[in-house]
Amino acid sequence: MSLKYDCVVIGSGNAGSSAALSAIEHGCKRVLVVEKAPVEWAGGNGYFTAGAYRTTHTGLADLLPIVTNVSSEQADKIDMDPYTREDFVGDVMRLSGGRSDPKLVDAVVDNSRDAVRWLADKVKVPFIFSFHRQAYQVGGRQKFWGGLVLSCENGGIGLMESHHKALKEAGVEIWFESPATELLSKDGVITGVVVNRKGHERVEIESPAVILAAGGFEANTEMRKKHLGQEWANAKVRGTPYNTGDGFTLASTLRPKLTPDWSGCHSTAWDFNTSSTAGSRLHTNTYTKSGYPLGLMLNSAGLRFVDEGEDYRNYTYAKFGREILRQPAGYAFQVYDSKVLGMLRKEEYGDGVVRKIFADSIEELAEKLHQEEGLEDTKAFVESISKFNEAVVAHRTENPSLKWDPAVKDGMSTESSRLSLSPPKSNWALPLDEKPFMAVKITCGITFTFGGLAIDPETGNVISEETGKIIEGLFCTGEMVGGLFYGNYPGGSGLTAGTVFGRKAGKAAAKLMKM
Ligand SMILES: Cc1cc2nc3c(=O)[nH]c(=O)nc-3n(C[C@H](O)[C@H](O)[C@H](O)COP(=O)(O)OP(=O)(O)OC[C@H]3O[C@@H](n4cnc5c(N)ncnc54)[C@H](O)[C@@H]3O)c2cc1C
Repeated sequence: MSLKYDCVVIGSGNAGSSAALSAIEHGCKRVLVVEKAPVEWAGGNGYFTAGAYRTTHTGLADLLPIVTNVSSEQADKIDMDPYTREDFVGDVMRLSGGRSDPKLVDAVVDNSRDAVRWLADKVKVPFIFSFHRQAYQVGGRQKFWGGLVLSCENGGIGLMESHHKALKEAGVEIWFESPATELLSKDGVITGVVVNRKGHERVEIESPAVILAAGGFEANTEMRKKHLGQEWANAKVRGTPYNTGDGFTLASTLRPKLTPDWSGCHSTAWDFNTSSTAGSRLHTNTYTKSGYPLGLMLNSAGLRFVDEGEDYRNYTYAKFGREILRQPAGYAFQVYDSKVLGMLRKEEYGDGVVRKIFADSIEELAEKLHQEEGLEDTKAFVESISKFNEAVVAHRTENPSLKWDPAVKDGMSTESSRLSLSPPKSNWALPLDEKPFMAVKITCGITFTFGGLAIDPETGNVISEETGKIIEGLFCTGEMVGGLFYGNYPGGSGLTAGTVFGRKAGKAAAKLMKM
């Protein structure tokens, strides 16, 4: 059985959906998306997201027209600094230690604002301001922090519903339960793809353009062990179980150029009591435990192991999963006191969302964690918190004018001329001294992998290892693109990058049809 399409997209997540719609917009008539997962798992990792998009903007007035959750009275009470191209480029580069490919970064950053406009106008993505994730109420005003302000109503569920509705309206077909199994080419030029279509054995599809958007290898234990290290067998998959690195296997026959960071990935603090192999379609992103700037993290030996206040949460959360995995037994505890309990996000810490252990003293908390949750050293746990409290008080005594403020890097730390901790807590350090105390048990959740294919930043064309030139007809977007993120990641950049390169790939694919 052989069929003809103008463009075939492999993977129906945010990146693939953006690519397919862009291909139609630029003139393709017949566009097919093939998707390995069944329809119940539609949307790839995109479905599991908070729908957070990082974009440059010039401030509140710039973005107000595309959000749906702000009245004019509310708008008067919002403080939102502009997020410039220098800010965005600087954030990606800073977090990658200067290793990100500058051309890829420029492409993402320079097209981010237009990508968001396109998503709002053409895909009808219901953007909202992310009050609950990226702002704190301070002095009666909503203060945004960390450069990231947009998310989607109903998170990734709302995002992917919009994408798939837009594809349907544009006449794009999606075949579920239909993994791509082989790329077809002649003389190094793409001619089509082979798909195991549901209910059929093997379908050969002719197409001058194939766009790879099949995600990374985060859900493939063997590939994780090989590229990230043995211990990554124990990481829990935060999203779809279908991102098993197929796209790389498919592309390998054409010898694409691979780019790092193959030993790097995005991973976060994640509820310990969850499935290892996939996220939950019901609870999606709520298993994330991102409240740590308001508290402490201690391992099973009762010791702190990261600077919880090193930076705004969305600049540290994607690297702390790895740190948790490195701890003895691969788990840890987040600890909070009553001063901050009301500030923890309900979606992540609400009743019934996560198992919470309460106690009226740190000693009692330690004992409960020992009896029920695997804390090995209660004495060290109590001592760590006691030393932390002393260090906070010493710093305050030397810096009486500083004010605790979660919306800025407030400098409230553990470091003074008298006391110093290793690791320190550099911002938002409050003593844990008011009962009740609360702990939750966390482990490492893997989000997506950073290594991938080298692409032309203008067209999304995959680059050949052999020639250093493009492989004609083969494009790539989303998690499969390498060279963009190394070691760490500024929150909300993955969706933006997927849409930016998806749009470029769709546009370039349409040109092949016209030739
Ligand atoms: C819990 C969670 C929260 C997140 N929150 C955010 C956020 O708020 N903001 C942000 O920017 N990023 C976020 N991310 C990261 C974000 O999801 C990814 O960067 C982005 O969705 C990747 O898009 P993609 O289209 O490349 O991959 P996906 O959306 O995962 O799509 C890949 C698709 O390819 C399919 N596929 C795989 N193999 C084949 C094959 N052989 N044939 C056909 N199809 C195949 C898969 O089934 C899947 O549907 C989050 C991720 C998770 C897991």
